[in-house]
Amino acid sequence: MSSQEGKKRLLVLDPYAGIDWRRVGRHKAALHLHTLQSDGYQMVEEVVRTYQRHGFSILAITDHDWNRPNARIEWKHLPPEVASPYPKEPYPENYPANPTWPWTDYGCPGPEELGLIGIQGNELTFRHHINSFFCDYGVWYERTGPGAPYGGIVDAEGREVSEDDQIRGIRSRNGLAVINHPGIDDKHAWWDRKPLDWYVERFRNHPAGGLVGIEVTNCESRNSPYDEGVWDQLLARFMPWRPIWGFGADDMHKLEESRQTFTTFFLDEPSAAGVRRAMLAGRFCFSSSTRGASYRDESFQMAEFPLLKGVKVSPEKGTIALRVENCDEVRWIAAPESLEPTADFRTSDSPWPRGRVVHVGNILDYRKTPGIGSYVRAELVRAEGEHTPRRYGVQVG
Ligand SMILES: [Zn+2]
Ligand SMILES: [Zn+2]
Repeated sequence: MSSQEGKKRLLVLDPYAGIDWRRVGRHKAALHLHTLQSDGYQMVEEVVRTYQRHGFSILAITDHDWNRPNARIEWKHLPPEVASPYPKEPYPENYPANPTWPWTDYGCPGPEELGLIGIQGNELTFRHHINSFFCDYGVWYERTGPGAPYGGIVDAEGREVSEDDQIRGIRSRNGLAVINHPGIDDKHAWWDRKPLDWYVERFRNHPAGGLVGIEVTNCESRNSPYDEGVWDQLLARFMPWRPIWGFGADDMHKLEESRQTFTTFFLDEPSAAGVRRAMLAGRFCFSSSTRGASYRDESFQMAEFPLLKGVKVSPEKGTIALRVENCDEVRWIAAPESLEPTADFRTSDSPWPRGRVVHVGNILDYRKTPGIGSYVRAELVRAEGEHTPRRYGVQVG
């Protein structure tokens, strides 16, 4: 990212600064997974072991806080025989709004035993979906507002619970929040798209130490340009002083319909604490593909994805150089041309301009390249047959 000071652009925020690329651990993360404990189709253990088999080392089960276990059985999508018997009595204190954590309470070996990094998670669902990580925050109140649960919720004292209350609740329990899949179609009973100002307000209201970013790709939004547009619009307004890190997630409900969307962390220390630090510092990148996959019976096509092997910033030369593999093109993307909406956000998948490609190639001269405002990010693209696996990273400002 660059900020203009007189005529000289300065790089003031580089999340990859200080990474020793020869030694750093690369960890593939699935940060948005559902199981039978809410509206997913499989048991915790099957989900965990399947993702592990496909090379994931960081997993967060983020079951919905509003669904009781076995929603798919209740909705007759699955037969009663496959129901999960968990959680067993005594129920967790905030049941059923509890995270599916610890895994051992749900019939799955713990992350240490499996050699994985497990992250406590929960998807807050009553309003805009928000993932909470590293804490047990969840909302379920039997007394709810008119039209509940979609029309609003109230807490035990009868007070309306807003998204701001939820983000504050996560933070007060030392958790981190990520805003999920902004561009999901408006056709769901439980979803209404928000205007851009809504996102701007949330990131203005909450510090980067609590609300760390948004999902930029999610299987639910099917690589729609909507979420990427929200991201660019936010970055243009907030960078470099208030970073908004971008995440990619499968939002997996059924292992047969996983989407090859994931986040890769660069960790010095392979632990939950290391993931937390990396989440706060932006030491990760995310990937998506136009090709879906069944994780149940296909192998993960990691070789399809471009690889980010290193980032070298030279303040003297004013360049950012990327070392990449498996990559057909590196695109550098800076702020959108306009910050004005161009279409109805409820019906259009491109309701506002996305960032502009200001350069193509491994090395960016950020001082001389025209069009760079307050940030620039890189997108690594590869063509694999008719598919396009992408990796997004290097968000600097
Ligand atoms: Zn969701
Ligand atoms: Zn979800």
